[in-house]
Amino acid sequence: CGIVGILGIHEVAPSLVEALRRLEYRGYDSAGIATINNGHLDRRRAVGKLVNLSDLLVHNALPGKSGIGHTRWATHGAPSEANAHPHQAGPVAVVHNGIIENYKELRAELAEAGYQPQTETDTETVALLAQHLMSQGKSPTEAAMQTVDRLEGAFALAFLFDGEEDLMIAARKGSPLAIGHGDGEMFVGSDAIALAPLTDQITYLEEGDRAVLTRAGVEITDEAGRLVNREVKTIQMDA
Ligand code: GLU
Repeated sequence: CGIVGILGIHEVAPSLVEALRRLEYRGYDSAGIATINNGHLDRRRAVGKLVNLSDLLVHNALPGKSGIGHTRWATHGAPSEANAHPHQAGPVAVVHNGIIENYKELRAELAEAGYQPQTETDTETVALLAQHLMSQGKSPTEAAMQTVDRLEGAFALAFLFDGEEDLMIAARKGSPLAIGHGDGEMFVGSDAIALAPLTDQITYLEEGDRAVLTRAGVEITDEAGRLVNREVKTIQMDA
């Protein structure tokens, strides 16, 4: 029930977990993070409280300066480590809040193309579809955009890609999402509170918006694919 993403200049795992802690108030049953560790996607996930995830990280650290994190409130599939986010399919990792209403239809379509889900979640379908599009030669950004085009329901999403240290894609529809602007760093969070220790410069995505983030900044397009300008606000908050 919470999302965070960081393209950072320091190790991101501690900041991801801290941001998730700030989203605990929303409730959750499991949590996880993914980073680009030495060029490759890598994940740690744990059922239950965030302390289980941070304990896991003590013994099994997750290096990397680009990462996404999630606290899950299960809607499709039991609370388990396998169903916990981030979900990964090939070169794509995804965190998602909300429900993908047409996941069964997409899953059937993907099964015909030879893609078998490993989990019971609606979310994994998002990663599989992006993987499928990338296997057809689409760039990570194109694949993510075309995936989001196909989704029905309510979602806030963040994508991270294998070998892409300086790219994160975010999208919102029916679920809030904020972009945080840092100094050579960029952030995504379910709300500004999650990002408070990292930045007070916040852009709220509007309904249907997609964001392409690099450390240099963010490019936002609306549902129709038009480039849009969204205000950067200075948020007053007790970090
Ligand atoms: N529907 C997704 C799942 O069950 C996301 C739930 C959430 O918003 O945390 O995994």
